[in-house]
Amino acid sequence: MNRRAFLKSLGTAMAAAPVAAPLLARDAAAASGEQLATLFDLSKCIGCGACVAACRAAHAADYPNPQKPFPKMYPERAKVEDFSDKRDVDDRLTPYNWLFIQTVTVTRNGKAISLNIPRRCMHCVHPPCAELCPWGSAVRHDDGAVAIDANICLGGAKCRDVCPWHIPQRQTGVGLYLDLLPAFAGNGVMYKCDRCHGRVAAGGKPACIEACPNDVQTIGPRREIIAAAHDLARQTGGFLYGETENGGTNTLYVSPIPFEELHAALQPSPGNPGLQAAADVMGKEKNLATAVLLAPLAGIAAGILRVANRARKAAKEDDHA
Ligand code: SF4
Ligand code: SF4
Ligand code: SF4
Repeated sequence: MNRRAFLKSLGTAMAAAPVAAPLLARDAAAASGEQLATLFDLSKCIGCGACVAACRAAHAADYPNPQKPFPKMYPERAKVEDFSDKRDVDDRLTPYNWLFIQTVTVTRNGKAISLNIPRRCMHCVHPPCAELCPWGSAVRHDDGAVAIDANICLGGAKCRDVCPWHIPQRQTGVGLYLDLLPAFAGNGVMYKCDRCHGRVAAGGKPACIEACPNDVQTIGPRREIIAAAHDLARQTGGFLYGETENGGTNTLYVSPIPFEELHAALQPSPGNPGLQAAADVMGKEKNLATAVLLAPLAGIAAGILRVANRARKAAKEDDHA
């Protein structure tokens, strides 16, 4: 089929786009086995940054390469967010840095204590970023990893707004929007840690875990990881974060310093999340109702966007033929 014929068939294909997938992520996962979780033993982290470098190497091919100069911004309220000339920034989350190390110093019993805290997406059990994404671009996989599909994300940043830690980061000048309406930049695409979903699905481990010289992180079935976190906290007199935050996450931290103190010492800012006691966003009645309403719409929208994305790829291949 040539390009013209293919694009012509797009309208028909869109009408027949898959409308299934109305399930909330939590329902899909409940039907299929246990989620995986990770445990960080913060007493072991020496802040060497090997995990950050490994994450960058593993995901270099996933990073955005924006079109410049940026086309006219539309919607006009969309704001340029551009890290493409600051790809080396590694002291915060960016579209090119999905993991970074926070170093915090607190005073306890008159003594200054420093702690290194690797930060990335928490992979929530009921992730508002996925359940409230209007396009179905953010999803929670059955193994508990929450990922954003850059091919169908329209960059509206709903995921960042509803995330208690504002984790996803936006890059302007990339994404499907530019192919659908080439004169306009749209919003761009959101990026964050996908817990190395592809590597884990292929039987491997996340790159940051493999690279760590001190075995700071452990990955395993959620129930086992929670039990291990409680054991560690008991044995060391430590404190636990992640079991109940935002209704429970698939990332747990055990720290020798209470998280309230760590949070107070951190100064949260864009790309630099806090460690607050996060309430369950999806437990709020209004958000649950919105998620139920959005689920079928997101399924339809994701179907349409996928078809449009396939059309875009086919048209590009045809142009290069
Ligand atoms: S931490 Fe934020 S971005 Fe990550 S899964 Fe939870 S809500 Fe989504
Ligand atoms: S799990 Fe993978 S994507 Fe996430 S921080 Fe580690 S290396 Fe990066
Ligand atoms: S590689 Fe391990 S020890 Fe080094 S900063 Fe990362 S988690 Fe900490």
